Order: sequence, then C-alpha cells, then structure tokens
Amino acid sequence: MMRQYELVERVAGYIENPNEALLNQAYVYAMQKHGEQKRASGDPYFSHPLEVAAILTDLHLDEETIAVALLHDTIEDTDATRREIDELFGEKIGHLVEGLTKLKRLDLVSAQAKQAENLRRLLLAISDDIRVLLVKLSDRLHNMRTLGAMRPDKCKRIATETMEIYAPLAGRIGMQDLRDELEELSFRYINPEAYEAVIGHLEELAEKNKSLTLEISQNLENKLAEAGIKARVSSRQKKPYSVFRKMESKGLNFEQLSDIYGFRIIVETVEDCYRALGFVHMEWAMVPGRFKDYVSVPKQNDYQSIHTTVVGPARQRVELQIRTEHMHGVAEYGIAAHTSYKDGEDPLLESSAYETLRKTIEQLAEGDNPEEFLEHTKLELFLDQVFCFTPKGRIIALPKGATPIDFAYAVHTDIGNSCIGCKLNGKIMPVITELQNGDEVDIIRSEKQSPPAAWESVVATGKARSSIRRASRQAVRKQYSTLGVRILERAFDRAGKTYNSELLELALPRLARESLEDVLTEVGRNEMRAENVIMAIYPDYQAAEGDKGDLSEAKSKDDVIPNRIPIRGINSDLPVQFSKDGGAVPGDNIVGILVPGEGITIYPSESKTLARFKDDGAHLIDVRWDVDENNQERFPARIRVLVDNKPGILALVAEVIAQNDGNIQNLSMKVLVDEFMEMEIDIDVWGLSHLTQIIKQLSVKSITTKVDRITE
Ligand code: MN
Repeated sequence: MMRQYELVERVAGYIENPNEALLNQAYVYAMQKHGEQKRASGDPYFSHPLEVAAILTDLHLDEETIAVALLHDTIEDTDATRREIDELFGEKIGHLVEGLTKLKRLDLVSAQAKQAENLRRLLLAISDDIRVLLVKLSDRLHNMRTLGAMRPDKCKRIATETMEIYAPLAGRIGMQDLRDELEELSFRYINPEAYEAVIGHLEELAEKNKSLTLEISQNLENKLAEAGIKARVSSRQKKPYSVFRKMESKGLNFEQLSDIYGFRIIVETVEDCYRALGFVHMEWAMVPGRFKDYVSVPKQNDYQSIHTTVVGPARQRVELQIRTEHMHGVAEYGIAAHTSYKDGEDPLLESSAYETLRKTIEQLAEGDNPEEFLEHTKLELFLDQVFCFTPKGRIIALPKGATPIDFAYAVHTDIGNSCIGCKLNGKIMPVITELQNGDEVDIIRSEKQSPPAAWESVVATGKARSSIRRASRQAVRKQYSTLGVRILERAFDRAGKTYNSELLELALPRLARESLEDVLTEVGRNEMRAENVIMAIYPDYQAAEGDKGDLSEAKSKDDVIPNRIPIRGINSDLPVQFSKDGGAVPGDNIVGILVPGEGITIYPSESKTLARFKDDGAHLIDVRWDVDENNQERFPARIRVLVDNKPGILALVAEVIAQNDGNIQNLSMKVLVDEFMEMEIDIDVWGLSHLTQIIKQLSVKSITTKVDRITE
C-alpha cells in the first residue's frame, strides 16, 4: 500500500509546493474511518481509495481532487458525515464527496428508467464539477482492475455498465487511455471467449510481424529526418476490443482485418505535422477516403491529429497518425492534459471538451421523460461525431450515422420541417445519405412540405426524430380536419342547412368537445357522425331515412368519392393503393395506413409492416372490403416459390398459374444454392380463396419445395 509520504511526493512531482497538510489529513482520516474494513478480495478497504488517488496523480490532478478521491467512500461506507468533512476539509470538498456518495446507487440499478434517472444525476453532478467525473472514472477503473473477486453475474453486470456508460464518458472528455483500459477490462468479462480468441490472434500476429513493424518505424523516422523533419515514430497494435468491434461491425474475420497496426508520428510543431504529411504522401500512395484532418477541425473532445492510410514499403496498408507532442498529451489524457497550476485559475474550465460536454448535458436535461433522456443521451453523448458545414461555413456537429435530415433539424426545426432535398458538396443527393466529416450541406426547402413519417426511422438524432413525429402527427390531424369540413359541408347541404364554423363553436359544449379542431378531426376520422353535429347546432333536426350511419355509405348516390378501390371506411379524397410489397385481396382482414403526402395504403392485417405503426393510432384506419360475388376486379398478391433449379422451370410454374386463372404481373428469380431457385411472383387474383387454390396447386408439384404468400 502506498505510504502517506509517497502520495505527497507523487503530487509534488507535478505541483510546486502542494498543499501537504490537506493530503496528509485526508489520508489519515480515510484510513482511520475505513479501519478494519476489507474489500471482496480480502485487501484492506483503504487500499481502494488510495489506488483511486494514485490513478488521479497519474493524471496530474490537483490536491483537492486527490483528497476527494481519498474520501470518496467515507460517507457511504463509514460513520463519516458531510458535516464532519465540511468542518475538516471545507465545504467544497464536502460537496464533491457527497456528490459521489449519491452516485453510488448508480451501481445498483438495472431497470431502464431507473438507470436513466441515475445517469441523469451523474451527468448533472458532472456538469456541476468535472472533477466528480474524474474521480468517478478512476474509482470505476480501480474497481474494474480488481473485479475478479466478485461473483461472475455481478462482474458481468458491472462490466456491461462500464462498457455502456463509463467508457464512452471517458472518451467524451478525450481520455483515450482510460477509455481503452475500461473497454478492455469490460470486454474480458462481457465476452470472455471472444476476448481470449482475439488476444490469441493478436499475440500470434505480433510475434510474426515484430521485425516488420520495427522496420517501418525506423524507415519512416530516417526518411523524415532526411527531409529535415524531427520526428518520433512508434507503432502500436490495435486494442483487442477495438479489433473485436471492427470484426463485429464489418462482419469480418480476423484474417480480413487490414489495419491491426498503426504508426504514430510525433513532431514538434503544427507546421511539421503538415510537412510530415506532405512527405508521407509523396513517398507512398495514399489510400483514398481515409484522410482526416483533426488538426484544423478538432473533435469535440479536443482530440487533434492527422489521420491517413498509405500503401507502405512492403505494399501493405499502413495507418498513420500525425500529431504534436501537445496533441499527443490531449489524446491520451484528454481534459486532464489541460491541468497546469501556475496561475491559480482552474485549468479544467479552459477545456472546450468540458464546455461542450456541459452544454450537451444541459440540453439533454431539458427533456423531462427519463426514457427519452436515456435515448437522447445514448444517441448524442456516446456516439462518435461527424462535423459538417452550412453553406456559410458554420460547423454543425452530429452523431455518426446522421443524415442531411438530422443536419436540417440541427440548424433549425423549421428548416427540418420544410426540408425536401439536399445538396452535398454542391451535388444533389438523397436526404437519407449518411453524412461524412467535412460535408457541406445545403438544404433544399419547400414551405408546403411536411416531413414524411418514414423519415423517423432513418434519422440519427433525438431532435429530428421527435420533431418529425410531432410534425407528421399534426399533418395527419390537419388532413383529417380538412376532410371533416368537407364531410360536414356535404351533410349540412343534404340536410338543407348551411355549415357554419361559428355556430359549431357555440355548440361545442353540447358535443362535449373542447375545440372546433377536435370535432372536425373526429368527423374526418369517422369517429363522430356528421348528423350528430347537425343536431348539436339544430336540435330540431331529424335525420332523413337513409342518411343515418356513416356518410361513406351514401356513396352510391354521391359520385364525389373518387376511390375506385372497393373499400369502405375511407371516406376521403386521399389516394388509396394496395401495399406495393405483397398487395391485399378480398378475404384478407385489412388495415389502412395513412401517410401524409402519400395517401392511404391497404395492408393485410398480418403484414409485418404494420408493426411499425402499432402504437400510433394516428396512422391506422379501420377499413373493410366492399365487394360481392359479382365482383369483376382482380387484386394484387405476391407469392414466393422455392423450386428446383432446372431448365424450363419457369415455364412450368407459369403454366400452373395460368391453368388456375392467375395473371402474372411481375416476377423475379434468384438462385439460392446450385440446386434451388427462389421466385417472387406478383399475381392478380379474384380473392383469397382463388389465391389459396393457386398456392395449393403449385405446392403439389414435385418441382416445388415450398410455396408461401408474402405480405410485407
Ligand atoms: Mn469507490
């Protein structure tokens, strides 16, 4: 265990004349309070706060933070109190220790809402004082290093939490070393088999390539020196977890990974960064699409470096990072690299990474629903960022995977709501294109537009998602209420009255509705009868025989309704179509989905697509067929046929369908393996029993393995 004087010596190594009295007092107090307590490993408990303090001295933190680290478990685990700590160490230290005590419970929850609430508490404490996070991360690091003493299920839970919350937070403030170690330790417990496998591969590879990497480093260093650039070149092997993550995300096996090795060129000045880059690119061919300049545009966590990949001397890909010594410090220690204690100012506050983190937290904390908060946080706080520009050069930071739609909403909600297209770097591109670092995004707008609901599943930011949801709900409501007006006008007309919104306003209490809008929407949705509205305004009115019931049934005497599809319950002028993937036929139970701007699409009720709209009553429309035995129309359906892959097979299948009076509209084929072929066939049929008959006839042929219907 580290002695009292050793701790003071460590701090004195980077702070001139440190506050020794404070360090000594905190050391003795914590040691006495924890007394005989033991950790799960059997070590004296005090070894834990002491190690946490030691980790923070490696990060060169100030005496107060070190004292807080020593004291961080005293209120929670001993008879120490906030008041006592205030009296002995001052209110500021007391406040920080108490803040950490409250966070302890973060370790004990699993339910998502509860986790969200605790995460929020952690983030707010951090935005209050970043040192809470530094102590908390060091605390977690030491606990992870000594996790083996715990029960396996507990290990896994703590490791998962570390992976999901603490490692990304460390990354967010630029502490890459700490993040790497947290991830490696967690990976080991979360997926031990994969961990062992990756480690094995890496060791094998390191042995094999030992001389090659050394050769490349020296070669680079010499050549740079010849060019007059003083540089230190080192090689590094990717960390097991980042190797694993890459294999997972790209679906590759270990042998397919090309960039296990990276080289780092550390130079003296920013100018040298670019000179070294120029030299490297002249010497070796650069691999297109891999160049990133985080020197001129630093990452949000202050990270700076130039990244490039070249085709190296032995024709292998070589990943390079070029940075200055100072940038290197920031890359390894993040926020903690900003600590220099000369002028008495709080150096941590100068870090723009902390500023950004604090701002993000404040924005996140505005939402009042914990689950939404967690969703936004995971989206925006923990993902990597891309930086894009407005045509005027303003930088917009977005999570990786963001689209121009996200960009539009990040600039302003109105811009998002009116977005109809975009130019990326001057070229018209689909709005669902994934944005890349440095893209210039010019949003094309139309005030008439409202965002299609389908965008909701494409976007990457919480802001875009909730704005689209809101806008499309409003658009649907608007369509229904416009429809409501039209239905009322017609109904009033038939009743020999004139529709008048002012009179309707007066009749609201009789309809027990709060607003005109509510009434109109309900009429439009067919949830309220037009005759009830007439009666609310003209209590003496008697509905004429035949006018009872919903107004869509008046369609035979009223040819205004243009829907040619024989379906009831739609009641509007909106275009109606069948699902493009699989259609629908009489006999199916059907559901209509209203999409603003696109009209109504009819799906069989077992269609998988419906799940997307399940919780959203606003889109669903209750519809039913309106056909009889004399029906003269055919309806679209799609089937999938798995057949032997033999010459003439298509003709055989087509023949069966034709013999059974089906019309083939479209057909696609693919060979699955040599022996089998899959056909997707769109056919027009009279109804469900006709379709079933065709499927049955196909199924009994010896060439078919399987026939089924597709209803996407
Ligand atoms: Mn602790």
